[in-house]
Amino acid sequence: MTRTPAPASPPAAVGPSFGTLALAPAQLENLAGLGYVGMTPVQAASLPLALAGTDLIVQAQTGSGKTAAFALALLANLELTDATRPFAVQALVLCPTRELADQVTNEIRRLARSEDNIKTLTLCGGVPLRNQQTSLEHGAHIVVGTPGRIIDHLERGALKLDALNTLVFDEADRMLDMGFFDDIAKIADQCPRQRQTLLFSATYPEGIVKLSQRFLRAPKEVKVRAQVDAAQIEQRFYEVREDERLHAVSLLLQHFRPVSTLAFCNTKQQCRDLAEVLKAQGYLALALHGELEQRERDQVLVQFANRSCSVLVATDVAARGLDIAQLEAVINVDTTPDPQLHIHRIGRTGRADAKGLALSLASLDEMGSVGKIELVQGGEVQWYPLAELTPAPGGPLRPPMVTLQIVGGRKEKIRAGDVLGALTGDAGFSAAQVGKINVNEFSTYVAVDRQIADQALKRLSAGTVKGKRVKVRLLQA
Ligand code: AMP
Repeated sequence: MTRTPAPASPPAAVGPSFGTLALAPAQLENLAGLGYVGMTPVQAASLPLALAGTDLIVQAQTGSGKTAAFALALLANLELTDATRPFAVQALVLCPTRELADQVTNEIRRLARSEDNIKTLTLCGGVPLRNQQTSLEHGAHIVVGTPGRIIDHLERGALKLDALNTLVFDEADRMLDMGFFDDIAKIADQCPRQRQTLLFSATYPEGIVKLSQRFLRAPKEVKVRAQVDAAQIEQRFYEVREDERLHAVSLLLQHFRPVSTLAFCNTKQQCRDLAEVLKAQGYLALALHGELEQRERDQVLVQFANRSCSVLVATDVAARGLDIAQLEAVINVDTTPDPQLHIHRIGRTGRADAKGLALSLASLDEMGSVGKIELVQGGEVQWYPLAELTPAPGGPLRPPMVTLQIVGGRKEKIRAGDVLGALTGDAGFSAAQVGKINVNEFSTYVAVDRQIADQALKRLSAGTVKGKRVKVRLLQA
């Protein structure tokens, strides 16, 4: 849970009005209230079909508005007047990770506000089964979860899918990457045959075809090509030798001084190497790759999203699904051989009316990949000399915030407001000095202004949160 909901980073293009769709007036009002002025390209292409009940295979990525595309369809399918089964599960969304499941649940809840009393439940691993079972006993219309945990509940008989009318596979390619095919198949086999199935995937590996042949009925395909808005994102290419690549990243950081940077590498090893080089130079940099445990991954993401880490170094697979609202720069440390992936990488910056900077390093060996990028984006890339980069004075930029970790989270019934209250009450800080607050199961993370970090740590440790003493430590990026 965050204190301030992550600011929506609306996809740049505003398309046709939602008023052209068969949606209830209350939903149209709700969408207007959310600031959804027009449909995104993915929504415009998929919603008319989805609302007509068609099974769909949609090629869509994070940031495209895909969640609302399937959420509006599953909400429209809900039967809320059946008094005999008021809280039977009618829609199930399968997601690869807990983070994505949380994001999806939040979006569904926002869109479900137009009706009274729609219950949405998240069921993911890493938290005790028992609490989830109790929630299931109270009933839910919509369940969002990861395959392993959904199976646990099905096997225990806690979750029943016989009243289901909509099944969604979100980021299906990633679920297959993670080896979930058999689990997904097991779950889909327990759903009624009469249903609508919607599959969303950024790429179409072979497994997706297999999945759709087995579980979708006469599906229509929706493809929307990723586009770069040149007015929104400034792209610069730099030619590098292999032995100067990692150093070139720090030259870029020193010259442009972006507050938050996502740096993409093609391999885990390159991620680790770059994070080490940057740390050695005094940057607060963290690496995100497939070998982190869930807890480590959570901590890395929290620190990057709350602006207490300057550079997140990631592989494409690890960064999938990551939705960061404010990202000043993307650096392509290695050029990707997949031009669509390049467009997707740089589309992470320049969201929500802010200008973004996309900096790409390419060696002579990578010129073939650069050529493919030029073909896909319909124009030549602009080259700039490394020699022109001049470090701004002041050394490596420090991130504006620092993260404090409080031992205790949802389990202890801590809420974001309790932490904010502790900092702005007895501890005497202003709300402006407190950033994002993430309450997880067992830990709470609060970002505070770098200037007050030590004092905030002392005063929180000496005071109370929710009337109790708490253990607090600095989380070092
Ligand atoms: P998603 O691709 O589903 O992760 O959505 C990306 C972001 O766009 C989320 O913060 C949504 O709340 C937001 N969003 C989705 N649809 C629209 C829309 N039609 N207009 C403005 N923002 C939207």
